[in-house]
Amino acid sequence: MSANANEVRKCAKCGQATAVCIRDWQVTRFGLSTGSSTRDFCCQSCGHRFTLAQVPQIVAFGILTVLLAITLCGGFVFACLTAYCVWPYVANPVVPGAPMPPVRFRATEPRRKCASCGGVTTCRLVTKHTVNLIPMGHSYDYACTACRHTFRLRSAGRLAAMALGGSFLLLIGVPTVTVGLGLIFLLAAAVYWGVFAWSLANLLRHPVLPEA
Ligand SMILES: [Zn+2]
Ligand SMILES: [Zn+2]
Repeated sequence: MSANANEVRKCAKCGQATAVCIRDWQVTRFGLSTGSSTRDFCCQSCGHRFTLAQVPQIVAFGILTVLLAITLCGGFVFACLTAYCVWPYVANPVVPGAPMPPVRFRATEPRRKCASCGGVTTCRLVTKHTVNLIPMGHSYDYACTACRHTFRLRSAGRLAAMALGGSFLLLIGVPTVTVGLGLIFLLAAAVYWGVFAWSLANLLRHPVLPEA
């Protein structure tokens, strides 16, 4: 656990100083702790959840926003991701000296509404993706208990990896399209952006259900 494991934050939803860390994903590189972690918080009054992204990730998103500003769509995506990661810090500020509330909500993925039958879906599998030991975000596989509808959600980090791959392929594909080879890159870029859009749509189609 990080040094600020006893941190109590103000809940953006109900306004009470009862949001505590329920899960701490330590970020390791080459097997060594980087000292930074991505932390999941849950308000113990109303069940509201939010994630505080690790600081290096936010810095990386900020740098990519500037670097990809020329590709417009890439710059826009990373500007949104930066804001998305910074916002929970601002909306749920630390309350110094607040007592630890009794824990009512555990560290499980929130249940989501099934887009197919309107029933309840639960997370069956969380996958942590790494490429050459570089964290590339998480994916979450959900399944509906009633109709067996399944879907996959991707974390902000995973979406960023998709957007980065898509932008990169677009940058190679556009100048080389006249040589014919560019078409392959553009097709691959379309796949990346397709998965990106599909993941975002899945997030919107399966809203989080309140705790039972
Ligand atoms: Zn709350
Ligand atoms: Zn269903």
